[in-house]
Amino acid sequence: MSGVATDRHGDDPISAARRALVDERRQLTLDELAALAALPDEDVPALAEAAHAVRVAWCGDTVEIEGILSAKTGGCPEDCHFCSQSSRFETPVKALPLLSDDEVLRAARETAELGASEFCIVYAVRGPDERLMAHLERLVPLVRREVGINVAVSAGILTEDQAARLRGVGVHRYNHNLETARSFFGRVVTTHTWEERFETCRLVREHGMELCCGVLLGMGETDEQRIELLGQLREVDPAEVPVNFLDPRPGTPLADRPLVAAMEAIRWIALFRLALPGVILRYAGGREVTLGDLQEMGMTAGINALITGNYLTTLGRSPQEDIVMLKGLKMPIGTLSKVI
Ligand code: SF4
Repeated sequence: MSGVATDRHGDDPISAARRALVDERRQLTLDELAALAALPDEDVPALAEAAHAVRVAWCGDTVEIEGILSAKTGGCPEDCHFCSQSSRFETPVKALPLLSDDEVLRAARETAELGASEFCIVYAVRGPDERLMAHLERLVPLVRREVGINVAVSAGILTEDQAARLRGVGVHRYNHNLETARSFFGRVVTTHTWEERFETCRLVREHGMELCCGVLLGMGETDEQRIELLGQLREVDPAEVPVNFLDPRPGTPLADRPLVAAMEAIRWIALFRLALPGVILRYAGGREVTLGDLQEMGMTAGINALITGNYLTTLGRSPQEDIVMLKGLKMPIGTLSKVI
């Protein structure tokens, strides 16, 4: 690796990080992570290798796959600048009615047949109203009973009562993304606050659901803000972190932003693993356009879970392509939970 300072053991920063996490089981400080973020591009392969070693040491080689279904698409009143489902922007995504129970059950069965252990039903809303709560209280037990798969839900900002009710009907994991650092959030969302998102994350955990808390990289945030976000993710303590890369959507305020470069994406996948060694770190939206032919490199840079098939508003790779990739990498598909 490049000529950089060594620590008291004579280790370069990457070897020191690996030793801390694999041998000493010590979390890295945010300063240590910032130093790794500043390494030159030529060190990214070594950083990825260290992150893979940390993933295997903490989580094993199993990969969790999940299918997601948009059960209510478009027409969202919020103004998240990256999202084509906002009703405030002129995008090709139009508001659709709620999917029927049969449509949801069919998608859940297809997901289970792929070997997936988690099926996430997603609603483009600010938060659930009473009608949506009643729908979820009927649908979640139905999917669990009929398909026998863990059900995850993503339905926006929750009240305490709603979090308790969702747990009561068997929601296994609830998705609510912080998306970006607190100091950057107001630049890309003005209709709700970062603190509201943080509070929903807290309620999810308090009521005994696993928290899935994703991020979106490439909106114009700085490296310092990505490190800030890593610290904030540690505070909400998620079981799962989906890593999305901005795939600029036509008509949104971020439509003209450039894609994250592939090696930069690998660097940050590795840094997320080094910062959050025990989480389920999931490839999510934007990976195809961002990583191109480097999909496998991401799988050996700290990722241990996939959203396979289509995303909410963009098409993904075919599930079969992912399954062939995992076979080639000799990574078994199975169920994961966070390692403490
Ligand atoms: S990210 Fe969620 S809350 Fe924001 S506009 Fe899109 S669907 Fe609505």
